[in-house]
Amino acid sequence: MRERTIAKSVEVVGIGLHKGVPVKMTLEPLGAGSGIVFERSDLKKQMLLRRENVVDTTMATTLGSPEDPQARISTVEHLLSAVSGYGIDNLKVSVDNEEIPIMDGSAIAHCMLLDEAGIMELDAPKPFMRITKEVVVQDGMKSAKISPSPLLSFDFGINFAHPMIREQHYHFEFSRQAYKDQIARARTFGFLQEVNYLRSIGLAKGGNLNNCIVLDEHSIVNREGLRYEEEFVRHKILDAMGDLAFLGMNVIGAYSSYMGSHKLNALLVQKVLETQAYEVVHIPQGQHEKATSLPMALAYN
Ligand SMILES: [Zn+2]
Repeated sequence: MRERTIAKSVEVVGIGLHKGVPVKMTLEPLGAGSGIVFERSDLKKQMLLRRENVVDTTMATTLGSPEDPQARISTVEHLLSAVSGYGIDNLKVSVDNEEIPIMDGSAIAHCMLLDEAGIMELDAPKPFMRITKEVVVQDGMKSAKISPSPLLSFDFGINFAHPMIREQHYHFEFSRQAYKDQIARARTFGFLQEVNYLRSIGLAKGGNLNNCIVLDEHSIVNREGLRYEEEFVRHKILDAMGDLAFLGMNVIGAYSSYMGSHKLNALLVQKVLETQAYEVVHIPQGQHEKATSLPMALAYN
């Protein structure tokens, strides 16, 4: 399998979740070995997709430059989830404000943008990070784990006291098509009380029923209801895929989490890198493809 970028530049305008102002986002192809590069076009500042450039994980994952507190881009995880699901290794993402557009609160608009751009294969073998030993991070009852596995899978459990959520569990075996069908349409969610609080401190200004599932004390406020029965937990898998993009390459392993968060995912990424719980592997092209690695390559078709 070879490294990927997009076949042509594409752009979209949408609002940012927190500031509520329009943001123009442009995706451009990059050559092999470039990685995922973010740019604040208004500040002419670039940031690489690196673990050390995660500067905040409280509401969303925020990428920044430790030397320059001005240069931040928040809510990168939904775009990164789609980029990862499409197996894209090299991409320039430019925005003219400090957030990635929230679109409909899921990753499906980003998938559609990538579909419009098309995938281009580059003349370099695609590196994969194959997990070689189990890594676990915990925060009280909450946990996130990644273990060796011949394929990529996600297993997530959540438990909220809210009557519309309670206990939910979802197991997802990755393929690009399954990602689009089962995960990419799952929207982010918030509780009305929280939303009111966030607004009072100047956040979530762009949040509305078109880009978020909103829960009041007993029910779902959105008239159209849910897109999937377990939409809440599926969105957690969408987020986890985006957060794992900070490993720097597509991963081969089994991720599982109970009540995980952006913070735990960032800690997991850091621990995988620090403890070198992986090896970098390539999946050969064509007839020499080993039976064991073939399904992983096929998953990205
Ligand atoms: Zn999310």
